Amino acid sequence: MGDDVAGEVAVAGDTLLKFMLGEGNVRGVVVRLEDSWREMQRRRHHDGAVRSLLGEMTAASALLAGSLKFDGTLVLQIQGDGPLRLAVAECQPDFGLRATAHAEAGAEAAPHLAALANAHGMGRCALTLDPRARKPGQTPYQGIVALTDDTGQSHTDLAAVLRQYLEKSEQIPSWVILAADDDRACGLLVQRMPDAGGGSAAGREKVDEDFARAMYLAATLGRAELLREAPEVLLRRLFWEESPRVFEPRTPHFHCTCSRARVADMLRMLGRDEVESVLKERGQVDVACEFCGAGYAFDLVDAAQLFKADIDQPPSPSHPQ
Ligand SMILES: [Zn+2]
Repeated sequence: MGDDVAGEVAVAGDTLLKFMLGEGNVRGVVVRLEDSWREMQRRRHHDGAVRSLLGEMTAASALLAGSLKFDGTLVLQIQGDGPLRLAVAECQPDFGLRATAHAEAGAEAAPHLAALANAHGMGRCALTLDPRARKPGQTPYQGIVALTDDTGQSHTDLAAVLRQYLEKSEQIPSWVILAADDDRACGLLVQRMPDAGGGSAAGREKVDEDFARAMYLAATLGRAELLREAPEVLLRRLFWEESPRVFEPRTPHFHCTCSRARVADMLRMLGRDEVESVLKERGQVDVACEFCGAGYAFDLVDAAQLFKADIDQPPSPSHPQ
């Protein structure tokens, strides 16, 4: 890392920048994940197409979290019907990130998203917003889109899926570009500011023009440059004529929200019979976190505690993580 930089000084490290362009009719987010992305791969390594998709999903989850006013867990999920079965990236309000994927052997060689996750046209991308303080009975917001466009053609990359999602489900015209390799996962999101223009036709027209110009400029950015350059350098290069205003940088980082208490909740939901049958067979119940690889073991004594607590107190509310 860092040895590929010649001339321009690229600021290393994990950075997320929110910005506004021109008169504030266009907003955006740019993210660069380095240490966090490498840490995720160190814990759960994936190759080729699976690694690229997971990196892009992780960058995308941070971009979306950066663009939404929302206090809770943002979950971006792809349910594949190709060699990729499932990929999940999560972003917390403080930009704590984690990701995991389940894929069949050979998935890493898929040439694009369509072959990887939409082999029969049944692949889906879901965005879930799970509020931090969820009220009892309140279900998380979820939006789901297919991995195909209006003409039934499979999208070949995640950025196209997200553009469609943001336009259709969120009704926010957007431009997205994503890229990931071994060392970095990066993304840029540019959006027409919702409700900008003051309601007049002329006002809306001006906003449309500003957004069209920003999108044109953003579309000149290629994946290689996105991976190579630091966020502030990218913004300066792409939008110098639009006088970008950059907000306080944020630092995305790897963070897994798993805990022994959550695994205990999960085992309680599984039920006493199920847990006891595993105990009888193996002497203890081993659960590994699919995101970070952390192991949690419950022996006979632990299991007795688990279900004793169940009787003593009402079960704690189930949690999706
Ligand atoms: Zn974990």
